[in-house]
Amino acid sequence: MDARFTADRNLGKLAKWLRILGYDTLYDRGNADRAFFLKARLDGRIALTRRQDTGRPAAGGRVLVVKADRVEAQIREVLDGLALSPDPCRRMTRCLICNAVLTEVPKEEVEGRVPAYVRQTCADFRGCPLCGRIYWPGTHPQRVDEYLRTRIPARRP
Ligand SMILES: [Zn+2]
Repeated sequence: MDARFTADRNLGKLAKWLRILGYDTLYDRGNADRAFFLKARLDGRIALTRRQDTGRPAAGGRVLVVKADRVEAQIREVLDGLALSPDPCRRMTRCLICNAVLTEVPKEEVEGRVPAYVRQTCADFRGCPLCGRIYWPGTHPQRVDEYLRTRIPARRP
């Protein structure tokens, strides 16, 4: 679970899914230029890009050129290409918007920040220290499981 990423602007969906899986993933809205690869290298991140051309050789660092168009196939490219096995316990531990690690939020503090029925039925809440977004179990993780089961074929041992 040590892999950390910086995704270029063409890989927003992939970045979100890597965050769902628990990977520290920055999303760079700029062009995937030399500075992008240099920054990734200096930050110890694997650069994920759709670009096959400029910038990379000069900047060095670890780069994965993502070839697939669909996000599920892109996730597979990353996981298989780098021989990664996401830890299920790490799913949904990061904000999908900011990439910040979520912290526990007491139930009393979520009033008005989540739908009333959610506050009544859920006990565990986590929040993003940067944007304040609240996450709760029963929404995302199940859908993630479902998605991964149906869209990403199981990896062979
Ligand atoms: Zn956030």
